[in-house]
Amino acid sequence: EKIIEVREIAREYSIGNQLVKALQSVSLTIDKNEYVALMGPSGSGKSTLMNILGCLDTPTRGEYILNKQRVSQLSDDELAEIRNKEIGFVFQTFNLLPRYSALDNVALPLVYAGMKRSDRNERAKEVLELVGLKDRMDHKPNELSGGQRQRVAVARALVNKPSIILADEPTGNLDSKTSYEIMALFDEIHQNGNTVILVTHEEDIAQHAKRIVRLMDGLVESDTQQNRKE
Ligand code: ADP
Ligand code: ADP
Repeated sequence: EKIIEVREIAREYSIGNQLVKALQSVSLTIDKNEYVALMGPSGSGKSTLMNILGCLDTPTRGEYILNKQRVSQLSDDELAEIRNKEIGFVFQTFNLLPRYSALDNVALPLVYAGMKRSDRNERAKEVLELVGLKDRMDHKPNELSGGQRQRVAVARALVNKPSIILADEPTGNLDSKTSYEIMALFDEIHQNGNTVILVTHEEDIAQHAKRIVRLMDGLVESDTQQNRKE
């Protein structure tokens, strides 16, 4: 079952009287429960494509259908609503609120979703347990290691039960052992039935995915299924 369909999307930026084609023409279909790595050299369009897939940006041409909704032409408010409902983001820099405990960071998306406090906390504890951090729920980000911070961020991404998890270089700020642990967590999240898309420039991180899409100059250069040893 299709969750993402991107048809011949382009994204152009005008800088002065120059036109930069961040994406020339990209077509891509991603099914529910796929595990996809998006690769490519710097400037190939990865961030631009992730921003569009995450409903942070819209293409200048083409069609984007997310979970049966046409999102290419929506207003910023409509995009924000879809984003809150459908997308769980994980960033290289964690992006946690420093004054909030792990629990409150994880529960925050549920505030926007209008859930009442006791239900929010119950759900947040449930996901913190899933990422192995329930015993740290009262800690603030600066009282946690890098790997633990990223676990909090992963829990926050999952808390709303989004349709897709988008991770942009999720291990970019972690040492190799911690990266491995975070990737094991993504593997588990995928095995639990989630759709996972991650941007990485590291081949061994990309090997965790079942499919690798490589961009080059704003075009899909290759799109291959991996025969991964389980
Ligand atoms: P990647 O993530 O693969 O490094 P990007 O999507 O960030 O690639 O960038 C693709 C191209 O589009 C680059 O040439 C970049 O300079 C350009 N670009 C990206 N975002 C903008 C922007 N907001 N304004 C102007 N040019 C941009
Ligand atoms: P990444 O490490 O993810 O490839 P980039 O440095 O390519 O990051 O881009 C970081 C952010 O800045 C992205 O959201 C991208 O759209 C934006 N960006 C990239 N190039 C430009 C540019 N030339 N002008 C304005 N914004 C840009």
